[in-house]
Amino acid sequence: MVKNSSNTSFQEITTHLLSSGFIYQGSEIYGGLANSWDYGPLGVLLKNHLIDIWIKKFVRSIDYNVLIDPAIIMNPNVWKATGHIDNFNDPLVDCKKCHCRYRADELIKNQVKDIEVEGKSNDELHDLLIKHNIKCPNCGSSNFTDIKKFQMMFKTFLGVTEDTSSTVYLRPETAQGCFVNFKNVMRTTRRKLPIGICDIGKAFRNEITPGNFTFRTREFTQMELEFFFKPGEDKKWFNFYKEYCMNFVNEIGLKKENIRFRDHSKKELAFYSKGTTDIEYKFPTLGWGELMGIASRGSYDLERHQKSSGEDLNYLDPETNTKYIPHVVEPSFGLDRLILALLCDSYKVEELENDSRIVLALDYRIAPYQVAVMPLSTKLTDAAKKIFDNIKEYYDAIFDTTGSIGKRYRREDAIGTPLCITYDFDSENDNKVTVRNRDSMEQERVNIENLNEYIHSKIFK
Ligand code: ATP
Repeated sequence: MVKNSSNTSFQEITTHLLSSGFIYQGSEIYGGLANSWDYGPLGVLLKNHLIDIWIKKFVRSIDYNVLIDPAIIMNPNVWKATGHIDNFNDPLVDCKKCHCRYRADELIKNQVKDIEVEGKSNDELHDLLIKHNIKCPNCGSSNFTDIKKFQMMFKTFLGVTEDTSSTVYLRPETAQGCFVNFKNVMRTTRRKLPIGICDIGKAFRNEITPGNFTFRTREFTQMELEFFFKPGEDKKWFNFYKEYCMNFVNEIGLKKENIRFRDHSKKELAFYSKGTTDIEYKFPTLGWGELMGIASRGSYDLERHQKSSGEDLNYLDPETNTKYIPHVVEPSFGLDRLILALLCDSYKVEELENDSRIVLALDYRIAPYQVAVMPLSTKLTDAAKKIFDNIKEYYDAIFDTTGSIGKRYRREDAIGTPLCITYDFDSENDNKVTVRNRDSMEQERVNIENLNEYIHSKIFK
């Protein structure tokens, strides 16, 4: 092997993803739109597989949990209650010389080693800019404007009038859909605590400095879980989900040495928080970045919604016959960052005898295609197609007839397809096909009749 995620540049990997059809630049034929990305056919397949695996782990495998799908645009009072309208802002600073715009905390973090900026006020950040003589990365000047609050929620208008009474927001997180539906879910599912309400969907933040490909964008997909339980069980569920989330990122194939927990310091925590831990991934070139967070939120969110909506959100505990507002632990995944981490982690370039190959060593279940079917010669296309038609009923599969078999294998390696099935002239007589494994490159003859069971045993090994 000559290269893997530890000695490959982030740019080399993203170039591969752009050229092979995982991701495209958003609105590319119009010159693009800053930091917007579209998932191509391969990216969508991978994304859907990852969503399925997350649902299996976080919804189906935990009997307490259910999945809902709330609306993106919610009553604006939701965001008033949560404090987003007043407080969901980033510290914005402009360079007075070249007028480039930055997030003050990130600007400082990128220029001063090991500095703590989380939880600092705008005045404190301003002092740090001066103390460390922070420079504009574009022009080198140290002359910045005062730090301003920049509201990160996207605003739009509901209906035909454009006035403040019709102002609504694109949700900046999916979590609130779970909180505002707590009562509905309890009533309609007739469950007792604990209960987990999960949801998957788009969230929108008008980030000041998006970038690093899909790591920080203005629209992204979150997979969140609000887990409600009896007050006092906070530590138990926080620790349970910390371990459960770490197991998940290991199970989907992220290398252990590239994953770590980062506990938030007291200064970073919101006043109501009983603890927050992030799981971080060590991205090539970029270094450690947050993949997801697990937050112990107490009763804060339901209390705020109860106060603001006037609805009674207490839970009547049938065991003690007492009423209380449940407490919550929230494991929150960013799907796009998880995808990016998986693609970086699985990328490698291998030196072969007379050749080299790019391989995406993705988990077999997550790879865009599980199987590629190829006739050795175009004369065998019809027979190979029959095999493909049968397989595609059960797996994401691709039929490839162009180029030499060697070239076709390389193409599949580079997009992570674990199994390549070749129908050759011997297949006509012995009813067997050659199955080639992406990782070992070993080939096996397999009876066509047993092909589906064979594939199943390899993919779900
Ligand atoms: P960051 O500190 O990187 O801005 P955050 O702590 O604000 O992230 P959360 O509000 O905890 O993020 O959201 C949960 C997850 O959503 C994050 O761990 C991340 O994976 C994802 N996420 C948040 N903001 C973005 C973004 N702008 N682009 C892509 N993913 C994001």
